[in-house]
Amino acid sequence: MSGIVAVVGRPNVGKSTLFNRFTESRKAIVNDVAGVTRDRNYGKVEWNGREFSIIDTGGYVDGSDDIFEDEIRRQVHLAIEESDVILFVVNVEDGITELDNGVAELLRKSNKEFVLVVNKVDNNKRSLDATEFYSLGLGEYYCISSINGSGTGDLLDEVVNKL
Ligand code: GDP
Ligand code: MG
Repeated sequence: MSGIVAVVGRPNVGKSTLFNRFTESRKAIVNDVAGVTRDRNYGKVEWNGREFSIIDTGGYVDGSDDIFEDEIRRQVHLAIEESDVILFVVNVEDGITELDNGVAELLRKSNKEFVLVVNKVDNNKRSLDATEFYSLGLGEYYCISSINGSGTGDLLDEVVNKL
């Protein structure tokens, strides 16, 4: 089996941290400054004897919200075209933003398989806070912490199921 998985979402939600954990590399640059990933990063993931390719999207070079919005839209359209499964990453620290709602709408309109990933759920209290993400209208979500790894095994199970 093989397949292509794209990681999308607004800056600073933890896409690159997740990519690095999945690929066990430090290829994608992680930074507190929103917008640090300049290009798309490609990697390979192996999970339970199955393999897939993963794309960490980014490409944001400017701090303004307008540029982010256009760029994120472009990345989501690209992901819908060229990947088999999309990981839509949001984070529980920030909650739902307008950009998150915009991406959710694009995904709902597409016929693409996707998984809603609520990142930065570093502890149990945060998993209670995550229930707000039901209001994105995308159904069930996976709570993970890209930093400490919790929930990432279940997420990988789901991804390979969808491939
Ligand atoms: P990206 O812009 O979506 O690629 O986000 P990054 O992967 O660069 O991460 C942005 C910031 O969030 C960095 O400071 C990361 O260390 C932090 N971060 C990423 N994942 C987690 C997580 O699971 N928990 C917490 N607390 N911080 C995280
Ligand atoms: Mg990044």
